[in-house]
Amino acid sequence: MTEYLFSEVSQWIPCKAVINQNISFTHLITDSRSVSNPAKALFIAIAGQNHNGHNYISSLYQQGVRCFMVDEDFAIPPQLNEANYLVVPNTLLAFQQMVAQKRSFYTCPVIGITGSNGKTIVKEWIAQLIGKSKVTVRSPRSYNSQIGVPLSVWQLNQDTELGIFEAGISQKEEMEKIAPVISPTIGMITNIGAAHQENFLSEHEKLQEKIKLFEQSKYIVYCSDCITIDRAIKKTYPNKQLFTWGVNASASVQVIRKNTLGNQCHLHLKYRGDEFEIVLPFADEVAFENAMHSIALMLLLGYTAGYITRAVKKLVPVAMRMELKEGINNCMVINDSYNSDLLSLSLSLDFLVQQSEHSNHKRTLILSDIYQSGMDDINLCTQINRLLKQKGISKLIGVGKVLQSHASLFDMDAIFYASTDDLLSALVPGKFKNEAILIKGSRNFEFEKVSSVLEMKHHQTSLEINLNALVDNLNFYRAKLQPHTKLLAMVKAFSYGSGSFEIAKVLQHQKIDYLGVAFADEGVELRKAGISLPIVVMNPEIKSFQLMLQHQLEPEIYSCKELHQFVAVLKSEAISDYPVHLKIDTGMNRLGFVPSQVDELISLLNQMPQVHVKSVFSHLVGSDNMQFDDFTHEQIVAFTHTTDKIEQGLGYPFIRHILNSSGILRFPQAQFDMVRLGIGMYGIGDTALHKLKCVTRFKSYISQIRQVKAYQTIGYNRKGQLNYDADIAVVPVGYADGLNRKLGNGVGAMLVNGHSAPIVGNICMDMCMLDVTGIKANEGDEVEIFGPKLPVTQLARILDTIPYEIFTSISRRVKRVYFYE
Ligand SMILES: *Cc1c(COP(=O)(O)O)cnc(C)c1O
Repeated sequence: MTEYLFSEVSQWIPCKAVINQNISFTHLITDSRSVSNPAKALFIAIAGQNHNGHNYISSLYQQGVRCFMVDEDFAIPPQLNEANYLVVPNTLLAFQQMVAQKRSFYTCPVIGITGSNGKTIVKEWIAQLIGKSKVTVRSPRSYNSQIGVPLSVWQLNQDTELGIFEAGISQKEEMEKIAPVISPTIGMITNIGAAHQENFLSEHEKLQEKIKLFEQSKYIVYCSDCITIDRAIKKTYPNKQLFTWGVNASASVQVIRKNTLGNQCHLHLKYRGDEFEIVLPFADEVAFENAMHSIALMLLLGYTAGYITRAVKKLVPVAMRMELKEGINNCMVINDSYNSDLLSLSLSLDFLVQQSEHSNHKRTLILSDIYQSGMDDINLCTQINRLLKQKGISKLIGVGKVLQSHASLFDMDAIFYASTDDLLSALVPGKFKNEAILIKGSRNFEFEKVSSVLEMKHHQTSLEINLNALVDNLNFYRAKLQPHTKLLAMVKAFSYGSGSFEIAKVLQHQKIDYLGVAFADEGVELRKAGISLPIVVMNPEIKSFQLMLQHQLEPEIYSCKELHQFVAVLKSEAISDYPVHLKIDTGMNRLGFVPSQVDELISLLNQMPQVHVKSVFSHLVGSDNMQFDDFTHEQIVAFTHTTDKIEQGLGYPFIRHILNSSGILRFPQAQFDMVRLGIGMYGIGDTALHKLKCVTRFKSYISQIRQVKAYQTIGYNRKGQLNYDADIAVVPVGYADGLNRKLGNGVGAMLVNGHSAPIVGNICMDMCMLDVTGIKANEGDEVEIFGPKLPVTQLARILDTIPYEIFTSISRRVKRVYFYE
């Protein structure tokens, strides 16, 4: 990696440089939570909606970071006497300008990809096709944002022969900022669609914004069959060289014929008068489009039809997901088969650290050789070793000739194998215990064989939890809060069915303030998994008071009787000032103190040094329903009066809170000091505006398809009967998994390959039957029970219930799979 002297970089952008020690740095950090090689880092402090990087400067200094980029209104702490600062009017803009300057030093071709869909796959496929023929640098995963683009482009170095970067935008004026950072010599637009439309007046406006990426480009690559794109590009860039593909003879690369055969697609193409055939190892339309963009680009780069034909045969799907699953012997297994490179290794390690922090899990990494790093092997292995030590990896299992032949460069418990098969034949699953295992290998190492040995075997019905969506939803709500308002996240009932510590870990990493659980046991489980955030227990029971003290769980106090009982336990343990949370009943008529009990409560508390009132709260009965808004306002007023009175009586301040998810959206004036977010995090709430993302997907698969003659009956009690010859699919999910039995007999349906397939007959304990007549369905195909395409709200409506009940009814025997994209 190239080193830059601090004083040199300060010349690149308009800034005021404060230099105490003119040192050099190699890499950039924007996320204070994942720091590697601090002594060689420049930290860019960005003030975002939910995080302000400036707040972490002192702690980063403690960790060894010495170079910082800060906003001009930041007060430089005098005690950090070895720190250097680039002081700028706006750190995000200056960051982009700085990387644009670095970009200008390199003359190798750079591809810049934009478009509504397919950017990441096209980028990865181009890299797959290029293989070892060029040293490439590309955006890791989908790093295409205002921050992701400069981080990606920063990787360019003197060995780079080709850069491939993607650019995504969600509002106006974003592209003009990142276009100079990529400054592509070859621009590409994949397509234009509905994604990220909300901040644009029209699709045209969005398209015009996207193609600003090409201002510096010599060539533009796109599909000329798309008329809107073709028109916009020709009009905006009449003098640039266009390189197109399409069915039309005027396209640079013409698609003459296309036949789908089984799982393949045979393409007959014509380029510069030569015709040739390419076999694409995929049959679907989306793969065809992505492949054509990639093939066109390869032709433009000068690769021959023969080379491309051979390379396309070996294209593999792009694994965007990083999956977390339960492993054998109390292990957790993180599976990431995204093409390995150093930056993406570092990202996956961050996830491993996040999930294993403060727990008794040791960190193990199973890693394959990394291709195309653009570094020599010794340098590469040295850097990997340093990274693994920083991330606290205690055991490395290396696979591949490069890692194996540099075994001596790794100074940790490490073992090496030449191939995946060698590893598999030596693997003793019983030897893995209480470990957090990251399995990270390039596709061709087929590490799925390794993970299947280490994962817990469950049946194939699973609940997938999209952690990106969860974090996006969290941030959606956070953006609605006043800067001082704290956030408590409700993770009761197994995180609304989504799993316990896995979700809590993500929330802890996101630096929320509090967690809420229903019972002490749930809190204990979180503590054992390493959750250190304060935890409120909403339904404390006398029997669990001891347990709560042992695990620093803070009770909700809802009656004088409970208060006496809790204080008695505290006295016997000689504990004082223990944090408690008072529940006020403002209308629910469930648990809590009513206003008439408050005087008694205050005088009791004043005689009890054993407890300290940390917060006082109440719960709204109908915050999601306009019909009850008057009542909600009354609850808020009553809460204000009561808490004022308590504060006067106690003589010290505490946190006040009353809003749940829908309250946050509908009663912003009642945030007080904290809010309690629940179902909204899981994607239910703001349906009208579609701002929330679907987090959970309940899925199974078809275990068998059979033909059933008309009027024969299907399933128990001869309930299912159809008046036509039918194809009936058996799906291994039943009421014991949480599939409500009322959905049987045509009331409910599941999605099979995008088509709705009604449930026939009674739902059984462990399976059910679908009518897939007329639907293209095969044994082994996936079935969606609810998820992004079949909203859980729809299911709730059919069952006359609420999504809360559906989520929490999914049985614990259903495997939970967490993923990051
Ligand atoms: C469950 C719960 C919440 C969260 O409610 P949502 O509607 O899911 O946001 C908040 N407060 C209390 C006391 C709860 O029990």
